Amino acid sequence: MNKILEVKNISKLYQNKDGEILALKNVTFRLNKGEFVSIIGPSGCGKSTLLSIISGLEEKTEGEIYIEGDKVEGICNKIGYMLQRDCLLEWKTIYSNVLFGLEVQNKKSQENIEYVEKLLKKYNLYEFKDKYPSELSGGMRQRAALIRTLAVKPKILLLDEAFSALDYQTRIMVTNDIYSILRKENITALIVTHDISEAISMSDRILVLSKRPGMIKDIHKIDFEIERKNSNEL
Ligand code: ADP
Ligand code: MG
Repeated sequence: MNKILEVKNISKLYQNKDGEILALKNVTFRLNKGEFVSIIGPSGCGKSTLLSIISGLEEKTEGEIYIEGDKVEGICNKIGYMLQRDCLLEWKTIYSNVLFGLEVQNKKSQENIEYVEKLLKKYNLYEFKDKYPSELSGGMRQRAALIRTLAVKPKILLLDEAFSALDYQTRIMVTNDIYSILRKENITALIVTHDISEAISMSDRILVLSKRPGMIKDIHKIDFEIERKNSNEL
């Protein structure tokens, strides 16, 4: 299969006033194009650190990251990063929020604006485009945050417990919604979640990290054919 992201021997040592914390140790894995991979592991094992390093926002202590075969240092515009907080700007309308990433990257072309408007329409936010974030539900805000991230056409999307702030019902709706958007837009996704059933139902593979220092403990391939066969046999 066609690999899009390669993470090789990543280690991270944080230095703070009380000493050193080894957050990640020798983490190696790859993502294939179009794949959905979840990361699970105990709290504090380095999941967020790993995503921040891949996004380029956090420096790694050791190791290498390759995207489409090229070694990457720092921020790479092929990556979109969504956090638990939706980080919408409260004083801007939904429309200017979803265009904000394009504005920052100086990519506000007619073509890109049309793409964003298409996404707003397709995912039922167009009629809310002149509203402010506080006027939207949690689920709608997350959809708007996703469209803002997709606007710059990332090839890989990193989601760090992006839905855990939502209540249970909304979370089920929004995750289904968002994963079907990602599949349709052919995005490769790396998802940190603490919800194992969400990981199983949404992913092609699950990476299990050990407790700190986070190391890859297991990689499970979710084989839907086998799952289905087994459930037919029951
Ligand atoms: P997770 O997302 O799996 O809960 P994190 O990646 O947030 O874990 O944190 C991993 C470990 O690194 C934790 O022990 C945390 O306290 C520590 N850590 C995270 N960020 C920093 C930082 N900026 N400075 C020092 N230690 C940090
Ligand atoms: Mg975290």
